[in-house]
Amino acid sequence: MALDFVGIRSIAAIPLMGESPKGGWSTEIKPDDSVHTLIAVHTDAGITGLGSVFTNGGLVEAALKVLQPLYAGENALEPERVSEKLHQNTFWMGRGGTLTHTISGIDIALWDVLGKALDQPVGRLLGGTYRKRAKPYCSLLMDEPEPLAETIAVYREQGFRAFKIGWGPFGRRGDSKLDEAIVRAAREAVGEDSQLFVDAGASDAYWPNGLRWAINTALMLADYEVGWFEEALRPDALDDFCELRRQSPVPVAGGEVLTRRQSFTPWLTRRALDIVQPDATKVGGISEQRRIAWLADEFGVRYVGHGWNTALGVAADLQLAAALPHVDLVEFIGGSAYVDGLLTTPFALDAEGYIEIPSGPGLGVSLDPSKVSRYSPNASALILS
Ligand SMILES: [Mg+2]
Repeated sequence: MALDFVGIRSIAAIPLMGESPKGGWSTEIKPDDSVHTLIAVHTDAGITGLGSVFTNGGLVEAALKVLQPLYAGENALEPERVSEKLHQNTFWMGRGGTLTHTISGIDIALWDVLGKALDQPVGRLLGGTYRKRAKPYCSLLMDEPEPLAETIAVYREQGFRAFKIGWGPFGRRGDSKLDEAIVRAAREAVGEDSQLFVDAGASDAYWPNGLRWAINTALMLADYEVGWFEEALRPDALDDFCELRRQSPVPVAGGEVLTRRQSFTPWLTRRALDIVQPDATKVGGISEQRRIAWLADEFGVRYVGHGWNTALGVAADLQLAAALPHVDLVEFIGGSAYVDGLLTTPFALDAEGYIEIPSGPGLGVSLDPSKVSRYSPNASALILS
């Protein structure tokens, strides 16, 4: 008889701290700040599923207490149904915020459980395998032109052939010549054979620029063969995004701060974006991300995942990339201990700058508890005691 039930026994939050990478935020993250949290779903069958949430560990712990009566004893083999149950029954408790973020990590972990129980990679369970590898684009914070070029050279040497530069001084000094000098230096440093993307990071606090700046900057970016212009406007400026997309010679990208599939509908129906970038660790997990990605496809909008924040977020993005027809890029932050320093077998680039999509069961990756313990006071919760 087919396996039809594996009970959820407990869910633990494993906050990461000590090496939290800078975000480029105007009030910058400190290494000890908790902004990324792992999730472990333990089951009656002895299978543990892993997920990731892009938010503070204390918030995730509090959310798990609220959600516990809803997930206790549920069937860990049914990620989409269980996640939807959690969404539907917490409508009045801050939907779209901490609870949605936390459900994202649970959902990713439930897909991991399902894959492990069935001995199949999540990508295949999502419907099929369009590709076996994806190109990680190396995400780096902007800096003055010279140090930025030096940093890019380090990662080019490691084998990356796609880069995104973002945040930092860009658009924040009222100096369009500096903005252009940064992009020019980056274009030279990445080389003719590499893709380059630019992220203004307008979801930063008190973003000072509006539509006029975004249009002028987009015209400048076209001169440097920039592949997309991301978060060029404040994240709620839907009308301005529509106008920017009409005028920009460079594809317009955004959507990383939106949560819940329903929030994406107006951005797609009104053609506000060329590329939509939901974050599986915030938006509602793999289940929600997959629906958004397919909906975007119906509108001719490209989907590129934003789950860069931990190795498990990247693993989720890789499985989604396997199962969607037009996704060959995943975001990959350069030099984060939470991506490079947690897995038993870290991600590795091939000669063309691609990562092989893990083909093992579930997310296809495993955490090394001794590595996780360097960055979390609760690493022991990875193993059910
Ligand atoms: Mg971004």
